[in-house]
Amino acid sequence: MEVVNTITALRSLLGPIKLAKQKIALVPTMGALHKGHLSLIDLAKQQADFVVCSIFVNPTQFTDPKDLEKYPRPLEHDLDMLRTSGCDLVFMPPVKEMYPKPENWHIDLGPAEFLLEGEFRKGHYQGVTQIVKKLFDAVTPDLAFFGQKDFQQVLMIQKMVNYFSMPVRIITCPIIREEDGLAMSSRNIHLSAEDRQDALVLSKALYYVRDHFASLNIPELLQEARAMIQSTPGVELDYFTIADGATLMPVLDKGESNIVALVAARVGQTRLIDNMILS
Ligand code: AMP
Repeated sequence: MEVVNTITALRSLLGPIKLAKQKIALVPTMGALHKGHLSLIDLAKQQADFVVCSIFVNPTQFTDPKDLEKYPRPLEHDLDMLRTSGCDLVFMPPVKEMYPKPENWHIDLGPAEFLLEGEFRKGHYQGVTQIVKKLFDAVTPDLAFFGQKDFQQVLMIQKMVNYFSMPVRIITCPIIREEDGLAMSSRNIHLSAEDRQDALVLSKALYYVRDHFASLNIPELLQEARAMIQSTPGVELDYFTIADGATLMPVLDKGESNIVALVAARVGQTRLIDNMILS
């Protein structure tokens, strides 16, 4: 496994792969890797000849400077995990490599940019699409793998790809959970033992909604799920919604074909998100 820090080194290693017409997959991450990230690499390996994983904690997508500062960066642990994952190339640029000079970025991502995460983290998806565009330009992958865990992020990246007509296929991968249901996240490391227990209410509420989707109506499902979360001390709910998976607008009709439940909450000092596809 090669590890490179510059776009020039990255391109020179990818040159022969492209010449040989091999399929290249990119798995963008911010590091602090866990089994969720490894599942993306696994799926990438199944569908491509050469897998690039990027590790870059992107400053422009953080709305809270404290969140950026305390984001975990266990580089040696990450490289050890990647070595056993079958990843072919790791791209780990310093901030200056991706942002050599200040730049303004704004593209039209449509109304869903401002809903849910976009409401609580203003400008977040401009930062996300800015760095993903730079990574796509650097790697020019055939396929790029993202987790359903960040449901809205995948929608926004697909919008960005459409906006620039980029020749890359976006693949969405299932959410990997701990045995007790908690969605794996790099941020879980910040949870105290008590937070860790409290955090379970998020996946419990999602499973409740999934299991009662046939028997209850949407207002009843929302009321029950929100009550479960709001009655858990130490958990502060930002939103729990049942939405159209394409527009993220709330749905009232269970007959629709693309329905997803999405939740975000602060557990202790840590903000967590999760979701579940319902139809
Ligand atoms: P991050 O390092 O948090 O930016 O995540 C990098 C990629 O891994 C994103 O596409 C995430 O959606 C995905 N990811 C994060 N957590 C999980 C998980 N529990 N299961 C599957 N994919 C995940």
